[in-house]
Amino acid sequence: MKYIPDDIVVKINGLPILNVAEKLGLSVNSKRTTLCFMHNDRSPSLHFNVRKNTFYCYGCSRGGNVISLVMNRLGLCFVDAAQWLIQAYGIDVPYGRKDYRKLKISVALPKAQKVKSEYVPDVELLSWIMDVAKLSDIAKDFLFHVRRYKEEVVEQKGIKSITDANKFYKVVVDRFGLDRCKKAGIVKWNFKEYRYETVFECPCLLFPFYDERGIIYTIQGRSLREYPTNRFSFPNHSDSFIFNLQDVLNADTETPIFIAEGGTDCLALLSEGKKAIAIPGAGAFKEEYIKYLKDKNLFMFADNDDSGKSLFARIDKALRVYGNYLHQMILNPKYKDYSEYYAEKR
Ligand SMILES: [Zn+2]
Repeated sequence: MKYIPDDIVVKINGLPILNVAEKLGLSVNSKRTTLCFMHNDRSPSLHFNVRKNTFYCYGCSRGGNVISLVMNRLGLCFVDAAQWLIQAYGIDVPYGRKDYRKLKISVALPKAQKVKSEYVPDVELLSWIMDVAKLSDIAKDFLFHVRRYKEEVVEQKGIKSITDANKFYKVVVDRFGLDRCKKAGIVKWNFKEYRYETVFECPCLLFPFYDERGIIYTIQGRSLREYPTNRFSFPNHSDSFIFNLQDVLNADTETPIFIAEGGTDCLALLSEGKKAIAIPGAGAFKEEYIKYLKDKNLFMFADNDDSGKSLFARIDKALRVYGNYLHQMILNPKYKDYSEYYAEKR
């Protein structure tokens, strides 16, 4: 049994939480807030309470103390998180102490500088999930009856679903082991129930994202719950990317390509026979995407909300550097997004 002495736990949880956050690669603004790394955050929702030395996310309702911040950020168990902090802060635990000697035997610890390292997809694990997942009746009902997307589009884009979170967790952990699932960001720690669980809020759809070589990069979960905590989720630490990137890679400079804000709007556009990609969330646009877009003929029905307008403005601005621009398509304001408009037309 590995064990951290109580007085050391108290000492560790007393480490200044903003400083710990910084060591974990989080950039906290002057309002003591940062973009939450536990959910797909659009504006900073993760708050630090310096007086209580705790953190709390108003987006996904997760929070805790110094040790739980490290556990969540690095995907470590309690003991490993405590040891990471002991090492990072050079906390003195007298070697002669009987209880600490056991602790010394433990595994190699991740170094603080590794936190900022780039996301590396676990291609085997992600491909396996997309291979074995099916399309449940709940998912089919949503896709084909509520939203009326074309079956061949859904099939061609490889959209799948998960129905039961516990069953999915068991199957994927049995196959790859908990450590690998944590590393791939597919499972996360649930503070309320004190156990690991999948990052996907089930039942949910799975949207596979492929890179320019056609190799899987990440999976976005789209919850089918009526009131999910997070409608969308990516594996922890994974970057968002462009959904259906292949459509831009294969297009010439004339063909109109539509940019959607999410995977489902993209399916609506594709179901109409258009070429379309999705850049999920206004915060998800990255300057590096411009290399795929700079010479293409691009259109966008921006969602009728602030994040839709902001995404439009960011892409348009980036294109103008290359003498290109984004055609703005106007959606009747009575529709929230393109999917709503599309479903009503059917
Ligand atoms: Zn959050």
